[in-house]
Amino acid sequence: MTIAEKIQNIRKDIPDRVVLCAVSKTKPVSDIMEAYHAGVRVFGENKVQELTAKYEAMPKDIEWHMIGHMQSNKVKYIAPFISLIHGVDNEKLLQVIQREGQKCCRSIRCLLQVHIATEESKFGFSAHELETVLTRSLLNELTHVEICGLMGMASFTDDQSQIQREFKSLKILFDRLRSTLFANNSDFRILSMGMSGDYHIAIQEGSTLVRIGSAIFGDREYL
Ligand SMILES: *Cc1c(COP(=O)(O)O)cnc(C)c1O
Repeated sequence: MTIAEKIQNIRKDIPDRVVLCAVSKTKPVSDIMEAYHAGVRVFGENKVQELTAKYEAMPKDIEWHMIGHMQSNKVKYIAPFISLIHGVDNEKLLQVIQREGQKCCRSIRCLLQVHIATEESKFGFSAHELETVLTRSLLNELTHVEICGLMGMASFTDDQSQIQREFKSLKILFDRLRSTLFANNSDFRILSMGMSGDYHIAIQEGSTLVRIGSAIFGDREYL
């Protein structure tokens, strides 16, 4: 199957309200252009250098999403053009994004990453941590950061019911924040969950944005 055919099939699988972010990390511009010609305009990358190189090489109506771990010292390279940063997982990073957004005179859209998997990982707020860090006064300081929702990754497991439980827990947290702290903020409406192996479950559990790489571009080869 070609990239365009794979995209068509995935589109049939996901409702119109769910955004498809094609994860193009490690893939050449030629592959990304195939997806672009098939109508995809949202692409996800996880390395700043690769992301900026592709941004420069490709059509300017693409929305670039940074889906990987975001290092504070690299925010400046993507601040002028990034459409959404998915992996925001600490307060210091929010402050850096605020500063860089101010410098570029734009508000930078972000998702807060929540650790929902049982696997050990350095990345992501715990639900409790998130609710203590996010205060009204912090949110008021962040004039150049637009917190648009939450992002999470389920455990890498064959146990479908575990994946389902993890996505459910993120959806519950998302709904709780949306009805409390973000009740008057219509920007807070993205729930980024689901990848090639688990996007069906994620959508069933309320995902509004799926990040799909290998199911579109094939397996990745890492050096
Ligand atoms: C690589 C990656 C994806 C896509 O993974 P696939 O299994 O290839 O669909 C999604 N989200 C994040 C955060 C990733 O790093």
